[in-house]
Amino acid sequence: MDHDDYMRLALAQAAQARNAGEVPVGAVVVLDGVVVGAGFNQPIAATDPTAHAEIVAMRAAAASLKNYRLTGATMYVTVEPCLMCVGAMVHARIRTLVFGAIEPRSGAIVSMTSAHEFPALNHRLEAIGGVLEDECRAIIQDFFRERRMASRTGDPEPASSGPPPRTVPGRSTD
Ligand SMILES: [Zn+2]
Repeated sequence: MDHDDYMRLALAQAAQARNAGEVPVGAVVVLDGVVVGAGFNQPIAATDPTAHAEIVAMRAAAASLKNYRLTGATMYVTVEPCLMCVGAMVHARIRTLVFGAIEPRSGAIVSMTSAHEFPALNHRLEAIGGVLEDECRAIIQDFFRERRMASRTGDPEPASSGPPPRTVPGRSTD
């Protein structure tokens, strides 16, 4: 099994998220060549804002290993992780992070910031990006394309393109 093989398992998890109507991101945790945890993004179904694929996979891995630390493990995730998930990986002592597609808005490895390199952290992750990048990007893009088409054909809401308006904290009024 190499990086591509494990990423295919993460992609299979992402497909489960897609089938459940969640943003399709999947993850597996591998220790000594064995998959010890797997998970897919499920914040809506779980009513849990932290139920990202990586967190679900780490919880499963920690439970199966009966250890709150996953020292030396490798995290495979289809999309560049967010700040929360990078933080959780540091807490878990994940050694290596392997991700597929870039997440230009909220990715915390190369896009928004490089959280795994914060100098104050007492544990560093090695990060490898771009593994099965095209497949990992395609499953996300297809999901959002289908959702846009569905909202155009059936949804009574106005088909506004682009993301919802964002609140800008501390915005000056003068
Ligand atoms: Zn996350």
